[in-house]
Amino acid sequence: MPRDEEAIAAPRSLQLVETEPRNGYALALHGGAGGRIHELVSESRTSFEDGLGAAYEAGTTILRAGGTALDAVCAAVEQLENNPLFNAGRGAALTADGRVELDAAVMDGGSGSAGAVAVSRFAKNPIRLARTVMERSRHLLLVDPSEELVRTWELDSATQEYFITDARVKQLARIKTRQAAAPRHGTVGAVARDRAGSVAAATSTGGMADQQEGRVGDSPVIGAGTYARNGLAAISCTGDGEAFIRGVVAYDIAARMRYLGAGLADAVRSTIETELTAKNASGGLVSVDADGRVVVAHNSPTMFAAFEDDGRLILMT
Ligand code: ASP
Repeated sequence: MPRDEEAIAAPRSLQLVETEPRNGYALALHGGAGGRIHELVSESRTSFEDGLGAAYEAGTTILRAGGTALDAVCAAVEQLENNPLFNAGRGAALTADGRVELDAAVMDGGSGSAGAVAVSRFAKNPIRLARTVMERSRHLLLVDPSEELVRTWELDSATQEYFITDARVKQLARIKTRQAAAPRHGTVGAVARDRAGSVAAATSTGGMADQQEGRVGDSPVIGAGTYARNGLAAISCTGDGEAFIRGVVAYDIAARMRYLGAGLADAVRSTIETELTAKNASGGLVSVDADGRVVVAHNSPTMFAAFEDDGRLILMT
């Protein structure tokens, strides 16, 4: 089995990067824990870096111009959804019966409002649909939102043919013939702090390759895979979804900060150790605190991420 596909198997030692606080704006994004799928290994590392870089630029352009953290995380995630290399939107992982079912969530730390979709099949950009649920419905989470709703809200729709790529069809075939490890993750997400000091988080995913139809992971579950609260932090996760839900990972980090007075890096470290590593689960996250300090961490062997440290763009692939 190629090394990249072994990648998610068992948790490894924690890798954690913490940047200096930034008084202005800050952005961090991830392109999933778990590495490239075998079928994409031939894609050069530069393609992944270009994808992350373009998404980072989309978000940072908004923040630089004084835009909101909410707009920035949605713009960055939308770019990654449109890029077939990542497990979200086009090019997302396939369910056991070869279909695409997408999950996404967004949370605005200022207003405390959030929107999410699970088993989304018709919106070209699930993150837009999640945001529209937040802004135009009375609800927070919609499951299997209809094509009609996507049209009513005047969002771009797409068919299964659009979402399904050859690389994912081949990956599923290899999983079915046991040539690849069964559950694989990917997922994309972003967190930001804007100039006004507000934070936001957004996450979007196709879930785990070969997952049962109807399975919903942590990404659209507020507090598990996605969370933001002004004065504390914004967090977007990737990894073994069930473990992130059981450990309420994103909120556990915020709660450590809120009730124990922990700093972001310490909170992230403790949560990953107790809720993931100790439970033999792997994954990672990007996070930003109220001061614009970014913490990127994972106990999976790899994680794609982009963030700035000391004015330098770091692309982790
Ligand atoms: N956490 C996602 C899920 O369980 C998968 C991933 O991050 O790769 O659906």
